[in-house]
Amino acid sequence: MRTCVRDGCGLGRALQSSSVPKELPADWRERLTDSVYNYHVNRSADSGKNNNRFEGDIASRPDDGRRRITPISGVVDRDLMWLDKIVPYEINIQFGNDEKKLILEAMADMAAKTCLIFREQNAKDTSYISFTRRDSGCWSYIGRQGGPQAINLAPGCVDKIGTVQHEVMHAISFYHEQSRLDRDDHVLVIWSNIQFGTNNTNFQKSIRTSARDLPYDYDSIMHYAFNQFAKNPKYPTLIPVQPAHFGRKNLGSRDVMSAGDVEKIRRIIRRDFDRSGKAVILATCAF
Ligand SMILES: [Zn+2]
Repeated sequence: MRTCVRDGCGLGRALQSSSVPKELPADWRERLTDSVYNYHVNRSADSGKNNNRFEGDIASRPDDGRRRITPISGVVDRDLMWLDKIVPYEINIQFGNDEKKLILEAMADMAAKTCLIFREQNAKDTSYISFTRRDSGCWSYIGRQGGPQAINLAPGCVDKIGTVQHEVMHAISFYHEQSRLDRDDHVLVIWSNIQFGTNNTNFQKSIRTSARDLPYDYDSIMHYAFNQFAKNPKYPTLIPVQPAHFGRKNLGSRDVMSAGDVEKIRRIIRRDFDRSGKAVILATCAF
C-alpha cells in the first residue's frame, strides 16, 4: 500500500519508486524544521523581475527551446560549448576589490580542479562571460551563448566562492542537480510548500537531460537547499528519500564545488566532437 506524505499527497510518483522508503518517519517535519541551511531562499523571488528565469536563477533566450541539451545536465551542441576549454571573462568595475578577488578565486579553484581555462577577455574573443551587477539576483545563462553573456551577481551573491561557482557552472552548461530525470528516486518534491508565481517552474525536471552513469549528488553546488523557494522556510520543499540520506537538511553546498561537480565538469568539457557534432565524453580531461 502506498503511503502518502501529507504535503506530498497527489504527488505519489516519487513514492512509488522501489528505492523510496515505504513510509516516512512520523516525525519527519520535526527532523527538518531547523533552518540551519537557508541559502538564497526567496532570493530570486523577491526581485519581481525574473519572469524569464527558469529554475530561479537561469536566464533564457527565445531560441533555447530548440537546442539539444546534455548528457550530465549540460549542453551538447558544439556552438554552446566553450571550445578548447577556454572561458574568457571580464569583471565589471561595479565590483569592489574584495569581490573581484573572490570571483577570481572561484575561477582559479575551478581551473585547478578541472581542465577549464579562465582568462581575461581580449579583443579577439567574441564569446565571453561578463560578471555584472546590472540586475537583481544571482543568475546566469546555460552554456556559451555567442557574444558577451552576463553572470549577474547582485550584492550578497559574492559571499562565497561556491556562490560564484554555481553561476559559472550554469554558464559552462549545467542545470540544477534536482532537475535530473531520475531525481524522483532521490528527492521528494513538496509541491504544496513551493511558492506560486514566477518560480513555479523551479522544480521541474529538465526533460532533455540525461544523468548517464553519474550518481545523484546531494552535495552538489547545483543542488537546491532543502527549503529553497518555500512558502514556509521552516518546512522543506525537497526531502531526500534515499535511506542513507533521509532527513538531511544540508542539501547542496554553497561553499565550494563537490567532488561530483568536479567530475561533471571533467567529463563534459571536451574539445572533441564526433562527425555528427555530438560532444565526445571521456572519463577525464586530457591534460
Ligand atoms: Zn542556479
